[in-house]
Amino acid sequence: MPPSGRPVRTRIAPSPTGEPHIGNMYAALFCKAFAAQHHGRFILRLEDTDRARFVPEAVQMLPDALHWLGLDPDEGPEQGGEYGPYVQTERLPSYREYGEELVKRGGGYYCFCTPERLEDMRREQERRKEPPRYDRHCLRLSEEERQRLLADNTPYSIRLRVPDEGSVSWDDAVRGTVSFENRVLTDQILLRPSGYPTSHLGIPLDDYLMRISHVIRAEEWLSSVPYYILLYRAFGWELPVFAHLSILRNKDRSKMSKRKNPTSVMWYRRQGFLPEALLNFLALLGWSDPDGKEVFSFQEFTEKLTLERVVKSAPIFDFTKLEWLNGVYIRAMTVEALADAVQPFLPEPVERADLLRMLPLVQERMKKLNEVDALTEYLRHDPDPQGLPFATALKRQPRPAIADALSALASTWEQRGQPTAEHWDTSVRELAERLGWKAGDLFMALRVAITGSNASPPTYEFAQVLGWPATLRRLHAAIAALREAA
Ligand code: GLU
Repeated sequence: MPPSGRPVRTRIAPSPTGEPHIGNMYAALFCKAFAAQHHGRFILRLEDTDRARFVPEAVQMLPDALHWLGLDPDEGPEQGGEYGPYVQTERLPSYREYGEELVKRGGGYYCFCTPERLEDMRREQERRKEPPRYDRHCLRLSEEERQRLLADNTPYSIRLRVPDEGSVSWDDAVRGTVSFENRVLTDQILLRPSGYPTSHLGIPLDDYLMRISHVIRAEEWLSSVPYYILLYRAFGWELPVFAHLSILRNKDRSKMSKRKNPTSVMWYRRQGFLPEALLNFLALLGWSDPDGKEVFSFQEFTEKLTLERVVKSAPIFDFTKLEWLNGVYIRAMTVEALADAVQPFLPEPVERADLLRMLPLVQERMKKLNEVDALTEYLRHDPDPQGLPFATALKRQPRPAIADALSALASTWEQRGQPTAEHWDTSVRELAERLGWKAGDLFMALRVAITGSNASPPTYEFAQVLGWPATLRRLHAAIAALREAA
């Protein structure tokens, strides 16, 4: 529940450093659902203060990705809101203001160390196999020295003053009580000489100023919470609830990374994963449904989500499962909706009416929308008659015999007109018997000639979608090619 009954406000705070990461969307899903459940608000804040990694195009990609997934924020750079601006580089004065205030309150101090000195210190610690920590050189400066450095306009950072003793602990809504000894912490830099905050100031200060009630985010940030708590304590502010989600993992249990799994949400979109399926999958990874359901909507998730049921173990990003789930959602679509959804995945425009006839034939087998091209390829274009995969029939029959058999079928159907499904079937069986073939071989040869493939939807249904003239045309083209190659 919200601390002191505050309205529920959740946020994601991604850094625009490239295509939006699937991990950010995973956090967004939990934040959005939790806020919706409590009639609260979900906020997007852009943490763009790391200028070295900043990618301008990524700024727009974040709201776009959220929109695609149906996770639009209630407040953010596009929507605005009472607690803006929602972009960190537009909030620089507040970091300075609170940084200086922290120093006044004794919770922070100026650090004049040059990058070179810090680098030497770090190397020396490494050599001595000590953990990297600030040696507090500047905490020990005399008041006189400090005044002299300031009078000389020496650039300074502001560091957090970590108490020498004691510990910091909090009750994480997912992980339970977590605590850190102060002696293992270091006096982190909060504000750089440039006036840019580090995440140790930017995150907690913005969370406070934006009235965030629940910080729901990835577990990898767990170890920075003690610093936020020290900052909150120095100011006497009430803490938000922290809920750290288990991070997504590759099959080998390493942290989900670009090298082993696609991590860009755009990639999933380009592959033809449906936003609903992806959300269902992400929810399933991080949370277990009390009724053991695997397929559920965002709405259902919103109703049932409790932070207690968020999984503590490391969820494995299982692609096979994601594809299976996507197939479930594709099969549940109306043909009309599927026709709209697959349009962008077709290499050339296809008449909607044609698409509506083709799709029922392949919908069952489609796991990703981008498969529509390959699955309907031979419905849209005649296959190359020279390259037809007759291998199975050829095992038992020579080419001229296959050509003769197909030709006999074509003339039967030309004389008697377009066959019904039953007539089609009996024509093939009767001919196979007359020739002493296995019926399966003849069915297969026919399938290959008409559909261009030996793993196609049922041939008769395929031919119906194709239309009778095109079916006969393909049959004759295959016959001619078989004769030519013989
Ligand atoms: N900027 C951090 C990120 O990119 C924010 C971490 C947080 O949610 O507090 O994930």
